[in-house]
Amino acid sequence: MTTRWPASTFSEFGDDDAVITELRSLTTTKFLSEVGWSDEFKVVLFPKYHPVLGGKECVVTTCTILMHNKRIGLCQSCTVRWRKAGEPDLEAFAVIERPPSRSMAYVLCVVPGCARPQHSKTHRICASHHYLRTKTLKVPLDDFLARPDLKPLASHGTCAVAACTRDRHSSVSPYCPNHLMLWRTVRGDRQTHERSGHAKTVEATFRTRTPAIPVGYEISLRGLPDRVVAEL
Ligand SMILES: [Zn+2]
Ligand SMILES: [Zn+2]
Ligand SMILES: [Zn+2]
Repeated sequence: MTTRWPASTFSEFGDDDAVITELRSLTTTKFLSEVGWSDEFKVVLFPKYHPVLGGKECVVTTCTILMHNKRIGLCQSCTVRWRKAGEPDLEAFAVIERPPSRSMAYVLCVVPGCARPQHSKTHRICASHHYLRTKTLKVPLDDFLARPDLKPLASHGTCAVAACTRDRHSSVSPYCPNHLMLWRTVRGDRQTHERSGHAKTVEATFRTRTPAIPVGYEISLRGLPDRVVAEL
């Protein structure tokens, strides 16, 4: 943790370090692993199928996020969309396709037989097929997918995060799409990161200590004081 609040902020409740140590001693490694916790990256991933931490999915048929608002049955972002749409009938709303989001889902390219992950949910095809469609052929997605000469592509190999089982996003990225996104957040500005003098160590730590991406619901605890994180 880099952000520390002044000691006086919590002094009436006892010494921060002692409380953190005590709370961490009560937290099992199994639990930390189930929620994908790492002290470096401070993101909790509530696993969808966990008997206690998991939950029901949002009722929107194309949404895989956990339900946030149980009364209406929607995840947080679908709730916002539903309100913006004037709170229409939920059954009708649930069958409208959800716009792409920063989802935890891992979906393969829709070109039949292609083993590479989708470049993004908007594009629905892998980065290589996306490049072919937009830069070489310059055709709409439907026309591209209807081409008889489309060839499926082999995987670029697995993500460089040791715990991850997903495939690399592209030939130039050592990470799967989700870890690439996480790495960009952790790294921050590339030039600042590369000038830091610790770039290699930071990336090596990222690769060895970052958990796999469980399917579920992600909450970032970054920026909170250590003691608040331990209490949560
Ligand atoms: Zn949803
Ligand atoms: Zn593809
Ligand atoms: Zn990965």
